[in-house]
Order: sequence, then structure tokens, then C-alpha cells
Amino acid sequence: MWLAVPARSGRGILDRLKSGVVLGAEGYVFELERRGYIKAGPYVPEVVLDFPDALRELHREFLRAGAGVMVALTYYAHRGKLKDVGRENDLEAMNRQAVRIANEVAREGDALVAGDICNTWAYDPKNKDASSKVVRAMYEEQLSWAVEEGIDFVIAETNDYLGEALIALEVIKGLKLPAMVTLASTRPHQTWDGYDYVDACKILADHGADIVGMNCDRGPATMMPIIEQVRSRVSGYVAMQPVPYKTEAAMPTFESLKTVDGTNVFPIALEPFLCTRFEMADYARRAQALGVNYIGVCCGGSPHYVRAMAEALGRTVPSSKYSPAIELHPVIGTRVEEKEKEFLVDWKG
Ligand SMILES: [Zn+2]
Repeated sequence: MWLAVPARSGRGILDRLKSGVVLGAEGYVFELERRGYIKAGPYVPEVVLDFPDALRELHREFLRAGAGVMVALTYYAHRGKLKDVGRENDLEAMNRQAVRIANEVAREGDALVAGDICNTWAYDPKNKDASSKVVRAMYEEQLSWAVEEGIDFVIAETNDYLGEALIALEVIKGLKLPAMVTLASTRPHQTWDGYDYVDACKILADHGADIVGMNCDRGPATMMPIIEQVRSRVSGYVAMQPVPYKTEAAMPTFESLKTVDGTNVFPIALEPFLCTRFEMADYARRAQALGVNYIGVCCGGSPHYVRAMAEALGRTVPSSKYSPAIELHPVIGTRVEEKEKEFLVDWKG
């Protein structure tokens, strides 16, 4: 029998959402791959055991940038994925250590800790009963360790199938923890088991998910129209965690982005499509205006985006101390002043 550790400040995720937007920050796997601690391809978070300081540092950077939640890096730390890289024996140690590290850093501020589960690649709607049992067992073992180490709520993310998301939700609710369940959106309008994304969010909310929405795959431009519909259909809390890439109607997901010569750029040549921090700040403002409650970023995310988003929401965060002061730049700063002077002269006629 496990007992949930109380929330850090006594205020859990639902209390915090009640009083305002909660800023999320994800993209740990992509960022730690760029930093040389995770292998692209399998994307198993081996960094948790092999370079815990690297993980600690990234958590700290997100915390300083204003993230209100430290998401334990247990994404893909499940039985199926660890088998792929021959580390099945490290499963429990990896899961426990990820949650421990998230807790350590969360206590340096006032962040909550989220346990994290995701699509397992084991769910098969054609073999629903048997595959559901396998998926459920994977979620139960991951979350039993997370609960023992201490979490405030659970994020079940990048769900391709509504069926798999509902299993995650049941397991979370069985632990009596708040559940945030978000869908992947690699296909145009529907989950892999054929539910319209908006309907799927509604079904999750009706089954007791406290926060529903979408994460990953789409940039702000192509995720926003779906989230707008989710917001109008769901009365509870809505989450949105897009990837910081310039997706568009013709290429709505980062998996579908191509250069002008038709080369696929996913997953390790995406840089030409990165949003600027200003575009991410603008997204945060628009999401807030729409009534989105949990506003974050997914794969490709990094601390400078989170700080820009926090500041766009009117917050001053620890790393705001080093926010840009371009007017003090020796060259560009002067140019700005000159331009301003020219503008003032023009304007005054
Ligand atoms: Zn992602």
C-alpha cells in the first residue's frame, strides 16, 4: 500500500490551476539528446542513471525559467523500450531515480512533481484484451515506483490511441492522483483508433481526467485550432504543449516537415523550422486568452522558450535576471538608439 507524498507547498495541481495558468516545460529527451546524453532513435532516457547531474541541471534550468512542474524523466522508461537497448534490468532504478531527481530540484523552488507515462507501443486495438493487460501492467509498475518516490500528479502523454489513454487514466485514478492526459496528433483529425481528437478529449474528461488536451507533434500554429475546439467542448482544465516548430496546414506535424527540396527533417534536422522565443511568447499569450489552463512546450523545448513564455504571462522568474537587454549591446544597441532617433525625427516631421 502506497501513500502519496503531500504536495510541496500544500497546494496541488488542481488548486494551482484554479488560481491561474500553470506553466509546463517538457522536451527533456530532445534537449538531452542535443547535449549528448541520450541516443536519437531509441530515445531511451539512459541519462537518468548515466549522467544524473545533466538531468538535474536541465530540471534546474526549467525551474529557473518559471516552470511550475518538474516532470520526472520516465518517458520511454518502460519495459518495452528498455528491452530495445538491453537495459531491462535497470527499469526500476531508472524510474525511481528520475522521480527522486525531479523531487530534489522541485524543492529548490515551489514546483510540483509529475510522474510521467506515455504511449507504450504495446497497445493493439485488434488484440485489445491481451494488449490492454500488458499496457496496464507497464503503467502500474512505473507508477507504483513513482508514487513511492513521491509525485503530486501524473501526466500520461503522447497517446496515439484513446484506448491506451483510457487505460492510463484508470491506473492513475486507481492511485487517487490528479490525472493529466494528453493526446499525440500525428494524423490529421483522429487518434489511431479512429476518434476525432476533440471527441477523444471530451471522452477522457467524462471518464474523470482532470486535465485533457494535446502535446507533442504539432507546433503552436496547427495545434491551436484543435485546442480551441477542445476548450469549447470541455468544461474542465485544458492543456496544450506544442513543439516549438513552425508547422503549417500543408505540414501540420513536425514529423511531416520537409525542406524545399523535399527532404524530411524529423527528428534530428529540425533546426531550420524552430520558432523564435518571441513566437513562443506569442503562443503563450494566445493560449491564455483562449482559456488554456496548462500551457507548456514539448520536444524541441528549451529553457529560453519557457522564460519567454513565463514573461509573456506577466511573470518575473529567477532567470529573468538575465533576460535580454539588447539596448546595452555595444553595436546593435547603438543602432537601435539611432533608429529610434531617426524615427522620432521622422515622426515629428
Ligand atoms: Zn514531444
